Amino acid sequence: MPEGDTIYRSARALAKILTGKTITKFDTGYAHLATVNDDRPLVGRVIETVESRGKWLLIHLSGDLILVTHMLMSGSWHIYKTGEKWWSPRHSMRAFLEVEGWQAVAFNVPVAEFHTASSLARKSSIPKLGPDLLSDEYTAANGVQALQQRAESHPDDEIANVLLNQRVMAGLGNVYKSEVAFYAGVHPFRAMSTITPDEMLKMAEVSQKWLKANVLDGSSTTGGDAIITYSGNRRTTNSGNEKNRLWVYGRRGQECRRCGALVEMRKQGPGARSTYWCPACQPWIPAATQTTEAPVGWNGAIRRRKVGC
Ligand SMILES: [Zn+2]
Repeated sequence: MPEGDTIYRSARALAKILTGKTITKFDTGYAHLATVNDDRPLVGRVIETVESRGKWLLIHLSGDLILVTHMLMSGSWHIYKTGEKWWSPRHSMRAFLEVEGWQAVAFNVPVAEFHTASSLARKSSIPKLGPDLLSDEYTAANGVQALQQRAESHPDDEIANVLLNQRVMAGLGNVYKSEVAFYAGVHPFRAMSTITPDEMLKMAEVSQKWLKANVLDGSSTTGGDAIITYSGNRRTTNSGNEKNRLWVYGRRGQECRRCGALVEMRKQGPGARSTYWCPACQPWIPAATQTTEAPVGWNGAIRRRKVGC
């Protein structure tokens, strides 16, 4: 799934070429968008702003019309110079905007809707987002406050699900979820009621640090904003070796980079997303209301492939 930093990069690149420009052509593979375009044509409207809110990308047009897309698993926005060959087939196109010299194309976005400012505010499936980890206004104190509020309102929520919850903090995806919990030494299945202020601070700080670092990485390695695709270059360790770029994500059964214990994985949360953790670096701590039993499926033993060398 594209993470907040990817959507942010897409929004930034789109903003750079689209802001202030007039739409000269619009096309869509979705009937519900075509109907709106028939009634309230896009051609002639000025693109006012492009913003990301967590996983959502919003293109604000003059005359109170907003094109909202959510990438989910498969979607992406590409930018092309007019006349340039598209990297994805035309039948994957879901929305297409042309301005002078440029084309912006949304491929395979499963969710695309038009809104007015008021319908957007009412739409419950477009959540009011928590503090955006990539906004200039975000501070770790905002993040801690958001986590504390969640712990008070939902003390039984598991921390890794909360890290993914865009209404709490906006921007983290499934990869960072595991990485952030590892960094803070927090078992991802621990209840919010067990998370200390110090652990919240660590998670709030490192979430912002990693997302920002990866945004910078992306723009420098692609050498500009010409084409936006999902790169796999997220990095949380400081290793220069591409293979060692993550602490635990995707490393089930491999040795923890810190302690050598074997990394575990279990599905978690409403979407049954894969969660990875080190059982030694991230010890299980039950909530006061729980038994001392670890969650089902947790074998309790810390396996090590080797000790020492
Ligand atoms: Zn470890």
